[in-house]
Amino acid sequence: MQPGRLVVLTGPSGVGKGSIMAHLRATRTLPCWLSISATTRPPRPGEVDGQHYFFVNEERFLQMIDRGELLEHAHFAGKRYGTPREPVEEHLRRGESVLLEIELAGARQVKIAMPEAFMVFLAPPSREELRRRLTGRGTETDEQVAARLAQADVEMAAESEFDAVIVNDDLERASTELVDLIVGRRPAGAGP
Ligand code: 5GP
Repeated sequence: MQPGRLVVLTGPSGVGKGSIMAHLRATRTLPCWLSISATTRPPRPGEVDGQHYFFVNEERFLQMIDRGELLEHAHFAGKRYGTPREPVEEHLRRGESVLLEIELAGARQVKIAMPEAFMVFLAPPSREELRRRLTGRGTETDEQVAARLAQADVEMAAESEFDAVIVNDDLERASTELVDLIVGRRPAGAGP
């Protein structure tokens, strides 16, 4: 059996990765398995343990690192995030494609561990729009928004490392573009 395709979606916090995931889930159009990360940050309202994230404490997270249970892990805005390795490998073995929605440092670790991974960067229409979205969602303090914007500048400089870039100016179009990339279809507008 052909192993599945591993697709890594990254891009600055607030760019809309979560909205695209929610849209693809709601419309049941995500053509692959979406990895569930572990994190030490507390749940936001509406987030469900085991569905959006595995919410764990620092001790458990460090144990996962020590036992080699994480495919990659990174710090982001003072909290830890990581991808449990076993479910990803299991889905790929079964021939299913897998999507990771993670930040840049982790994405780079995945690319080193699994060079065949297809790397997708989700970019905001502009930095100003990103600031507006981060402030508008109201889940972060001013200080946290500033930290996420600073991190966004670092991430946006890395755009050229990616196999594909999607500009998130329209949720539906960007979602369709991502689905096309996951199933290996040529995006609309691409050359011959
Ligand atoms: P949030 O706290 O807004 O859910 O996520 C913050 C950032 O962490 C986002 O950029 C998200 O893509 C990233 N992230 C989520 N899960 C993981 C993970 O397992 N590993 C890494 N490296 N980043 C993650």
